[in-house]
Amino acid sequence: AKENGKNSFAIFEKENHSNIKKEFDLTNDMILAINNNEFKLFYQPKMEYIDGKVVIVGLEALIRWFHPQKGLIYPDVFIPIAERSGYISNIFLWVLNEVCNQLKKWNSKGKDFNISINFSAQRFGQDNIYTNMSKILENTKIDPKKISIEIDEKYLAKNIETSIEMLNYMKSFGINITIDHFGINYSSLNYLRSLPVNGMKVDMSFINGIGSNTKDEAIIVALIELCKGTDIDIIAEGVETKEQYDFLIAHDLKKMQGYYFYKPMQAEDIEKIPELGFDN
Ligand code: C2E
Ligand code: CA
Ligand code: CA
Repeated sequence: AKENGKNSFAIFEKENHSNIKKEFDLTNDMILAINNNEFKLFYQPKMEYIDGKVVIVGLEALIRWFHPQKGLIYPDVFIPIAERSGYISNIFLWVLNEVCNQLKKWNSKGKDFNISINFSAQRFGQDNIYTNMSKILENTKIDPKKISIEIDEKYLAKNIETSIEMLNYMKSFGINITIDHFGINYSSLNYLRSLPVNGMKVDMSFINGIGSNTKDEAIIVALIELCKGTDIDIIAEGVETKEQYDFLIAHDLKKMQGYYFYKPMQAEDIEKIPELGFDN
């Protein structure tokens, strides 16, 4: 048994080492990725039920990495690595710049959207992020009201005072703030009233429970009621089925996002959505 234990420890160490090596390699590759144009933004439409039908009211930008050797890498893999190395600030600024330029292109075609960007609040306050943000907004002359920032609840919970400061700063630009993955962190309700936010995104895991988990349903209904008494906008993500859609509409949650409507897609495919009326 002792021998066994020793062996498995050796194997564990080896795996651990190769993970560290992988992370090290990806971190190094990432530094080249921006200059080599390896990142690409996909856009997923955000929907709203208005006057009896569902229409597109905005887009969420989701990053993809087309690695020259490894192929397509999803953000779930490289964003956490970027957070650990601090490179996440560069990615955030790249995404903001890309979104503003895309909006400019769409504006020149007579189209306008509200676009949301995901923000990992790991290192807010560092790396001149705010100065660089305002530079991008000034250079591209994009109305900050067209930009929303989605911040993961878990980062907000870590340091509430710094979060409030950061959110107020972003809001001072005119940027909209949404809390992403709302409801996952038990403490979120406690600090909701002290955070200067415009909206909350009900986490996909709750939407997933519609029709099968009465607790999930009860939480969704409670969040909808909660937002009614405030000026906080509520949006459901990960809507995949008609059953989920019907449930949300029946409970008066009218903003939604998910595969039931559209998957994330490249800008050129967004332009092919008939409802948006691009002339191709
Ligand atoms: P998220 O912000 O929660 O984004 C939603 C994720 O769910 C996206 O995965 C999206 O493609 C996927 N999704 C959308 N609708 C559905 C649905 O109906 N069903 C299911 N099962 N999934 C759906 P993606 O693009 O792989 O992004 C994963 C996460 O990576 C994002 O989660 C976000 O936290 C992070 N991320 C993506 N882009 C960026 C970025 O530019 N910056 C930062 N900091 N994080 C990003
Ligand atoms: Ca998001
Ligand atoms: Ca989400």
